[in-house]
Amino acid sequence: MTEYEYLFGPVPSRRMGRSLGVDLLPFKTCSLNCIFCEVGTTTVRTLTRDEYVPIDAIQKELLHWFEHDGQADFITLAGSGEPTLHTKFGQLLAFIKAQSDISTALLTNGTLFPDADVRRDAAQADVVKVSLSAGDEATFEKIHRPARNIHLQDMIDAYRLFREEFSGQLWIEVFLVAGINDSPESISRIAEITRSIRPDRVDLNTAVRPTADPTTRAVDEATLHRLAAQFNPPANVAVSFTSGPHERLPVSAAAVLAMLKRRPCSAEQITASFGAPRDVVDACLKDLTWNGLVRSIDRHGEVFFQAES
Ligand code: SF4
Repeated sequence: MTEYEYLFGPVPSRRMGRSLGVDLLPFKTCSLNCIFCEVGTTTVRTLTRDEYVPIDAIQKELLHWFEHDGQADFITLAGSGEPTLHTKFGQLLAFIKAQSDISTALLTNGTLFPDADVRRDAAQADVVKVSLSAGDEATFEKIHRPARNIHLQDMIDAYRLFREEFSGQLWIEVFLVAGINDSPESISRIAEITRSIRPDRVDLNTAVRPTADPTTRAVDEATLHRLAAQFNPPANVAVSFTSGPHERLPVSAAAVLAMLKRRPCSAEQITASFGAPRDVVDACLKDLTWNGLVRSIDRHGEVFFQAES
């Protein structure tokens, strides 16, 4: 497998099957520093937009990937931070559309959606997934630890505007943390706001992987399923991988490391992602751990592997 700097995967996505990730930010640049973040603690917390990584270099890697692989269900802008902070993410979506028939997705925390230019660029994606995990400003601050001048109400207003402007699939992810935003009042408020935005899909998620704040507690799966019915449309519970058997992908220590740089995974998840024999994945993980590039973390009795930053 070719080593790319900005592309990773294809990885199994809970929502999108096989998804090629495109990383537009240096680790770890984001407008939020969510307690539940699986990428790690935000080191550059900002609302300043910039061409954080050169668009030409990303496009060059994509052209190479189209030519040598080109098989995925989605190409997803995501990765080491908030993709809409990159001033040219819209240009990149247009480039992908011009070069390929693969659907595009934008995974965003939505903090920049009050900016009409960001909404216009986001509307070029086939799927836009935004985040809504609080029903009031105090909970928003607690769970997301935002950069200055980010307000939940501005984002909600912008989501409603975007729904009017965008004809593609609008998905909302609600990330629930036990003891913080899972009270009946909190859920009811989030569900009410979600309904007013009229999304095509709602996903409920919780902290099943290692998180930026290790004290972050997951909501149990049975509770998530019970809460799902309060949403309109009824929410999907996106807690575990649903990756079916994929076609086999070449696996190497470099490819595994590229995946782990973006989010922690268990050996089972890596095995499912590559469709690779477990002993080969174990050998890659052993090699990476031995060389100090990866460490293992216990999360509720399950072992995850995470790239050293
Ligand atoms: S979860 Fe997403 S929005 Fe929150 S800090 Fe991590 S990358 Fe940023």
